[in-house]
Amino acid sequence: MKLDVDVLRYLSKEDFRVLTAVEMGMRNHEIVPSELIHRIASLKHGGTYKVLKNLLKHKLLHHDSSKYDGFRLTYLGYDFLAIKTMVNRGVFSSVGRQIGVGKESDIFEVAKDDGTVLAMKLHRLGRTSFRAVKSKRDYLRHRSSFNWLYLSRLAALKEFAFMKALEEHGFPVPNAVDCNRHCVIMSLVEGYPLVQVKELQNPDTVFETILGLVVRLAEHGLIHCDFNEFNIMIDENENVTMIDFPQMVSVSHRNAQMYEVLLVDASYFDRDVECIFKFFTKRFNVSFEETPEESDGSDVDSDETGRPRFSSIKKVTGSLDKELAASGFTRKDQDDIEKFIEGDVEKDLDSDGEGTGDEGHILEASPDVNIKHFDSLCLVEQHEPIVTCDDGDEEEKQHQFA
Ligand code: ADP
Ligand code: MG
Repeated sequence: MKLDVDVLRYLSKEDFRVLTAVEMGMRNHEIVPSELIHRIASLKHGGTYKVLKNLLKHKLLHHDSSKYDGFRLTYLGYDFLAIKTMVNRGVFSSVGRQIGVGKESDIFEVAKDDGTVLAMKLHRLGRTSFRAVKSKRDYLRHRSSFNWLYLSRLAALKEFAFMKALEEHGFPVPNAVDCNRHCVIMSLVEGYPLVQVKELQNPDTVFETILGLVVRLAEHGLIHCDFNEFNIMIDENENVTMIDFPQMVSVSHRNAQMYEVLLVDASYFDRDVECIFKFFTKRFNVSFEETPEESDGSDVDSDETGRPRFSSIKKVTGSLDKELAASGFTRKDQDDIEKFIEGDVEKDLDSDGEGTGDEGHILEASPDVNIKHFDSLCLVEQHEPIVTCDDGDEEEKQHQFA
């Protein structure tokens, strides 16, 4: 199933009202009882029922009557809510072709009225990792949609916050434009992921630039943790742009005093460095004996093979914590997402039990459900047209949660 934004054109104010009602209900219900949706949406004359049917038809909701009659959002429904919000904010006005399928995301081109093209990344946390976890832990099935919504939103916020902070510190990253729910809007990077590049004019220079970036990140207390040929873009002039930071670790966010933590960080750092060395040897025949030890101009020591060592990052010039917090990404968010990445989330779910109230931050912080104020939360004027130039031959995608 592709992201058929054409459907957006035909969704009415009432459709979005009900979709938003389901989203609100999901703050404390995995499956939102139909009755509650009806109450929140408060449409006249049983209108909710008709709208639910329509939303179901377009796969924006999933119907579940196993325990009681209710609905939950699908990823597609969540996509539409985010897209609608962005369109209403004037961030973009049309959605184009899909330009990337990441491990845990879908990336589309979007365009503004003036023709500027941006990239929209829709996070799908759990799409791959979830299967592995699920096969082990069957009970997760019942809480999955909750957590994947929440985690995808967190991943988007994290990416947005890091992108902004890194940009402020002069790192070559896309320009972070906006963030809503699980969706990040950023500038479109010219060129291709390094993995698709068969030949470089100056492989040594590119290699040194990339290695210099890993070291500079570490000097800012950051480790990418997924620094590889898939997450580095190269343009025609062989300029490098880093993308994709959901796994990035801020050393200062953790208790960096702890020896074990430092060891783990060191091994992440080494792994990032190793990835780059391996790739450049294999693909571009870069030989490292000739690499000058201090090629990036820093005073970082290297071992005999030219690999920089974590222990020798001397001048950690500070953290990005302040900048991250400015985008609303907190230490707790960082902890939550790290837990997921490290697999601890299973344990958490185990002790979590039902209805602990933890679900409260599953969806974006929004005012408490207040029927009187519902209009101001509603996303819509009337549905403004969204043009689609989807070329239609994208692979079919699973938008359901699990
Ligand atoms: P994931 O987190 O799922 O790995 P990525 O952020 O790495 O997702 O994006 C997947 C692919 O989408 C990239 O390899 C790249 O081809 C494309 N892409 C991502 N962001 C951009 C961007 N800002 N501009 C152009 N292409 C992008
Ligand atoms: Mg990636």
